[in-house]
Amino acid sequence: MNTRNLRFRSNRVRDILGLFHEELDVLYGRDEVGVFCEMLFEAWLGWDKVRLLTSKEQTIDQSDLLRFHWALEDLKVYRPIQHIIGYTDFCGCRIAVNPDVLVPRPETEEIIQWIITQLSIPHFPFSVLDLCTGSGCIAIALKKAFPEAAVTAVEVSEKALAMAKENAESNGTDITLLQADILNCQLPTVSYQLIVSNPPYVRDSERAQMQRNVLDYDPVLALFVPDDDPLRFYRAIAAIARQSLSPDGLLVVEINEALAEETCSLLRNHGFRPEVHEDYRGKPRWVSAVWNP
Ligand code: GLN
Repeated sequence: MNTRNLRFRSNRVRDILGLFHEELDVLYGRDEVGVFCEMLFEAWLGWDKVRLLTSKEQTIDQSDLLRFHWALEDLKVYRPIQHIIGYTDFCGCRIAVNPDVLVPRPETEEIIQWIITQLSIPHFPFSVLDLCTGSGCIAIALKKAFPEAAVTAVEVSEKALAMAKENAESNGTDITLLQADILNCQLPTVSYQLIVSNPPYVRDSERAQMQRNVLDYDPVLALFVPDDDPLRFYRAIAAIARQSLSPDGLLVVEINEALAEETCSLLRNHGFRPEVHEDYRGKPRWVSAVWNP
């Protein structure tokens, strides 16, 4: 394909940004399209924001231009930008993603940052269990924050687990990965000081309100739960925590914003004292729990 077949007016950065805004602003809004462009230039040319802002008259190679062409086509059909560049940054860790894993979300990052501030000086030995790890982002970020901790991550999907393994290696973190379905298994009974999970929690009936970039590209297995039993994973997590959370331990789960009360009452019934926390959008997003004395 030569430049004539591509709709960019030229190889100049200004024209690339121009076409992205022309074609995508109606779908995503101008600010988000600006962020996409920054991410693409960073990923493919290693340019930071300032370099991008000051290089509008510069031209890029034909092969790079072609990549921008395909990115534009992909974005028009709502392919997530993280799938296009192949990664996302999560708590300072670069996490590779593909359609086998849920793209790590900023809300989840906020939870992990909160955990890190809560446990700034954990007592050692310190063991962490991450249930439904997906890309491994939570386990990897916690291991990075607490290098002395023993971190175990559990995931049902073999493909997701392969991604988690790749991410653990690329971030230089030594974590234990286990394949298991927490709805249907006996995990080894070890005592953990921290148990954390971002399980599937979107009710089937909530599909209608979801964005296409989530619905069409994130794995169904990581997202949805049946309407008649939306807390099934939390029941399994609570049962595991009952067996394995140390007396001074902390349990932290990401939640469906509409089910905070129900999640708390389930945890209370399992002997915990839960507390709801709001995310940066002001929505109930996670519950922390300690043993009820
Ligand atoms: N918060 C995610 C979303 O809105 C869902 C994450 C989950 O089910 N654990 O897509």
